[in-house]
Amino acid sequence: MDSEQSLMLQLLNISKSYGDLPVLQDVSLTIESSKVTCLIGPSGAGKSTLLHIAGTLMSADAGTVLWDGVDVFQKKEKDISLWRNESIGFIFQFHHLLSELTALENVMLPAYISKKKRPHLESEAKAILERVGLSQRMKHVPAQLSGGEQQRVAVARALINHPKMILADEPSGNLDSKNAHDLHNLFFELSEQEGQGFLVVTHNEALAERSHHLIELQDGKIFQTRSK
Ligand code: ADP
Repeated sequence: MDSEQSLMLQLLNISKSYGDLPVLQDVSLTIESSKVTCLIGPSGAGKSTLLHIAGTLMSADAGTVLWDGVDVFQKKEKDISLWRNESIGFIFQFHHLLSELTALENVMLPAYISKKKRPHLESEAKAILERVGLSQRMKHVPAQLSGGEQQRVAVARALINHPKMILADEPSGNLDSKNAHDLHNLFFELSEQEGQGFLVVTHNEALAERSHHLIELQDGKIFQTRSK
């Protein structure tokens, strides 16, 4: 992979305010594919806002978001949604699985929204659920799964469209330490064995310590970064 390809996501001079409250001030950073990048910093530093802007869930007041060199906010609104669904996987603190659907159906959902034809979708979804260790849980609905299992379904759902990157907001914030550790192991396995990139907002120090790339925000600015 050449260096050009590995520069997956670039945020250039991003600023954002909520009313009079400046939340991000001229933030620029580059996130490489295949790595686990963690975004840390105190509560209110602007981490979630930055993640939402990177994921095109929210626009910035100023600055540019480039994915593979493409300024995605220049697309039409409906094209942004389609692009987002096909290009980015999301994992949130609370899994946001649909309660009436089985694990398998939840995982297939983003692929139904995509316009691409997927004749082997169900077997692909089953393979991904196996990959995240849930081969015995495919027909269960979320209420029949533990918190750790629910988050693994959310990981599988994030993977179904083969995203450029998975963006995760406090994915282990609601898990006990054993389940959090297992979930983080899964991120590193997917990154190191399959080249899946992750950008993770976290307060989990163990995860931040293990990350390939660490970015610390304070008061809406980059305070420091570290790469391995
Ligand atoms: P972090 O993820 O680092 O905790 P956030 O990006 O969630 O930070 O929030 C940064 C600041 O913006 C906080 O002071 C928060 O209260 C404020 N904020 C977040 N979302 C909104 C919103 N929709 N409207 C107004 N203020 C917001």
